[in-house]
Amino acid sequence: MYDLAVQGGKVYRAGDFVETNVYIKDGKIAKLTDETLSSTEVVDAKGLFVLPGFIDPHVHMALDLGNATSCDDFESGSVAAAKGGVTTILDFLDPIAHEDDLIRAFEKRYKIAQNSIIDFGFHATLSSFHGDVGKIVKQVKQLGMNSVKVFTTYSESGRMIETEHLEALLKNKIITMVHAEDDALVDSTWEDISTYESSRPLDAELSALDQLLEMDIGGRLYVVHVSSGSGVEKLSGKPNVFVESCPQYFYYDKRVFGLENGCLYLLAPPFRTASEKEKLKMNIGNIHTIGTDHCPFKKSEKMASEKASEIPKGVGSIAYSFLLMYNLYGESIIDKMSSNVADIFGLKSKGRIQDGYDADLVLFDPEGKTIVKGSGVCDYSIYDGLSLKGSIRSTLVRGKFVMKDGKIISAKGRYVRGE
Ligand SMILES: [Zn+2]
Repeated sequence: MYDLAVQGGKVYRAGDFVETNVYIKDGKIAKLTDETLSSTEVVDAKGLFVLPGFIDPHVHMALDLGNATSCDDFESGSVAAAKGGVTTILDFLDPIAHEDDLIRAFEKRYKIAQNSIIDFGFHATLSSFHGDVGKIVKQVKQLGMNSVKVFTTYSESGRMIETEHLEALLKNKIITMVHAEDDALVDSTWEDISTYESSRPLDAELSALDQLLEMDIGGRLYVVHVSSGSGVEKLSGKPNVFVESCPQYFYYDKRVFGLENGCLYLLAPPFRTASEKEKLKMNIGNIHTIGTDHCPFKKSEKMASEKASEIPKGVGSIAYSFLLMYNLYGESIIDKMSSNVADIFGLKSKGRIQDGYDADLVLFDPEGKTIVKGSGVCDYSIYDGLSLKGSIRSTLVRGKFVMKDGKIISAKGRYVRGE
């Protein structure tokens, strides 16, 4: 007797769709078969795609920037995620300067993540680091994480990593996640919103990538939120290098900063030229993962100042990230939002519809239609009004519905360890 049967859907398996039934027991995918077996609950998935739950490798729930806090916490952010078919999020620990602070940072984030309705994991983050790289790598792994995030910019807030520490990290058997902008080419005091891109120009991204590629990568380099086609091209085909980009860079170019409400679009790195955006789209094959960098702020916070330097940077899209990318690339985007992420970050039981894996599933109606409206508790989305093909009907985490036919069902997410 199985707990749940998802019957008659087109099930995504290793790049293909197979019409089959999925049987779930104790939160795991127990059997895929054409046969009809007995099950406590049965869901009819005829006409629907059954997809692996999406894993967003890059979110910032309740991120405290000092002057503002991103408006989705783990509860509202995970609800938005569930609506978008996302079943696991990877968030970031507060930045630490020394390995002695790691456990405290972990426990703090672990605690506030308890109201997530979907599963969650973390990356460690370094800032003003003056500790021992070897020790921090060991401790990060002991806590079930696989990745350490660093910045090559934000010297003004002390977040920038020193080259010697970056080089030491890259030699370790860990994922070094890098926010790559050359600090020397960034002007963090920039006030004019309409020309904001000039303050963090494309050259800043490309120069930082050049510097990274000159370093010895003994572990894995994972470049977060690459904003340009030229950036992706630079990284393509390089061994042990992984490239992440975000839906927003596929949809907008820097002209939006010149709109009357240009402040609502501010983020870092910024949108680029229209031709860089097109080049990015052409280079989807050289991008390993799609993360949202979900970090929404309310309109009032975005509009609290007329100076670009004082406006919190970030936008949200986790409720629509799959749809946004599916509308551009169809089924070929699925792996970049599921199995690729699981493989890179070592989430062994996630990202595939396969016997023994967690039953994290999305029931997707390819004939449906979704119109973007807001993002979580945020009072706007940069995609508001956009009409997207397809709709996410239901989302399951470990065999339990967290959203069923569009309605959110309360659940308790679990911490996911990377192996
Ligand atoms: Zn980020």
